[in-house]
Amino acid sequence: MNSLFHDRVRGLNQAPLRPHAQYVLYWSQMNRRVSGNHALAHAISLANSLKLPLLVYEALTCTYRQANRRLHTFILEGVPETAKRLAALGAGYVFYLRARKSDSNNTLYRLAENAAALITDDYPTFIAAQHNSSVPAKLSIPYLAVDSSCVIPMNRFEKREYAAYTIRPKVHRLLPEYLKPWDMPVLRQRWNLPLPAFHTEVTAGNIDALVASCEIDHSVAPSLTFRGGALEAEKRLAVFLDRNLRRYSTDRNHPAAHATSNLSPYLHFGMISALDVALAVERHGLENNLSSAEFLEEMIVRRELAFNFARYAGRQTECLSSLPDWARRTLLAHATDERKPCYSREQFERALTHDDIWNATQKELLLRGKMHGYYRMYWGKKIIEWSPTCQDALETMIYLHDKYALDGRDPNTYTGILWCFGLHDRPWGERSIFGQIRFMSYDGMKRKTDSAAYLREIAWLESTGCEPHPLQ
Ligand SMILES: Cc1cc2nc3c(=O)[nH]c(=O)nc-3n(C[C@H](O)[C@H](O)[C@H](O)COP(=O)(O)OP(=O)(O)OC[C@H]3O[C@@H](n4cnc5c(N)ncnc54)[C@H](O)[C@@H]3O)c2cc1C
Repeated sequence: MNSLFHDRVRGLNQAPLRPHAQYVLYWSQMNRRVSGNHALAHAISLANSLKLPLLVYEALTCTYRQANRRLHTFILEGVPETAKRLAALGAGYVFYLRARKSDSNNTLYRLAENAAALITDDYPTFIAAQHNSSVPAKLSIPYLAVDSSCVIPMNRFEKREYAAYTIRPKVHRLLPEYLKPWDMPVLRQRWNLPLPAFHTEVTAGNIDALVASCEIDHSVAPSLTFRGGALEAEKRLAVFLDRNLRRYSTDRNHPAAHATSNLSPYLHFGMISALDVALAVERHGLENNLSSAEFLEEMIVRRELAFNFARYAGRQTECLSSLPDWARRTLLAHATDERKPCYSREQFERALTHDDIWNATQKELLLRGKMHGYYRMYWGKKIIEWSPTCQDALETMIYLHDKYALDGRDPNTYTGILWCFGLHDRPWGERSIFGQIRFMSYDGMKRKTDSAAYLREIAWLESTGCEPHPLQ
């Protein structure tokens, strides 16, 4: 087995390889891509060593929390390109759309019956985390989870880190070992078996009809801005390198400047590899004498701190009980402070607060399916300030992310939300409601960023349904 990956692989059961199997099975749960996918590469290496072909299984179910038209469309948009790239590799590819709750729920187990081993993605949140804890014991073949989400494998951090300043030196020490290109092995046995009847052919032309057939929430429209898939992700990366990296360190906190990468939806669904992005950014920086440090701080240090949190917090990843002691104490001391104004979840959801900046952030989430990073902090802080309790605020933020954010349900989601309550932060000056938790003010947003330009842009988006500039 390729030694490049031993740090990335966890065996999650003790079952032996199946003798006389027909193929090796890769279950693509979170890394919905072919390029730069360590789990796929691991599956190819295993298939080659067993002289077997490879079958890749990808599914989309109607049963996950807040399953809706926006999320389904984005995922399905990636499927035709995945199919094309897997065919070029010589792997079989089964895509199963579980459109209705009454549709079969045992397709993975049926495919596993003829497989020597099952490889999947190691991922610490949402359904993949649940699958990786419940499925392995039900299989009689090895179940191997491979981390292809992080540049430095999660396994290399042996405990939960306290904050960015504790993980940063470890990241910088380990980075030379991992921030390097690698080659996808060549699959030796081409797939030539028939596909099962439950395979769903997805084409650019049938996505709307497939989504319409699903038993999901159809009220959440697809994003006005983002289309799913590896090709879209690669285009966005190219635009970022060409136009934005040079401005990232100075302009990234100004939403109307559009200096960030907008890659979070693609990183979340694994449509692009974080390692490939980091390598491309580093190379472009070196070739053009630009700093890549600020971007790599966000995409490696901050992002991998979030994966570290989710890995070790486990079931507490979505809970206030995961906050550091000082944060829990200070919030408790202010639990009965008066909240005025105080909004319901519906008022937040419909962007009906008194605050034009906050309403614009929520409208951005509703229309684009993503919020700008700096304004997202403000969005979260104000939900704390205007909710009846901290628990209500937490639930509102998770609900809105689950429902509308293309990059939601991610380790970054829960870490970002809990950051608003003090996770990975430090105590600040005492004030009402927040205690010593960091506060953000309306005047501060106006002073530090061009909020007028942001308000104009969101108003345009809302009234026309179109982005003011292409490829944002
Ligand atoms: C309340 C709140 C909720 C958040 N929810 C999410 C979420 O659901 N999904 C999500 O991916 N991020 C979330 N973040 C983190 C951050 O806001 C987004 O990652 C970022 O805005 C994504 O935009 P971008 O791809 O243009 O970022 P860029 O600035 O271009 O950064 C590139 C990548 O680095 C990573 N990154 C950037 N900032 C952070 C950060 N602060 N923490 C961790 N990783 C970071 C992301 O993967 C991002 O795509 C949240 C932050 C807060 C405060």
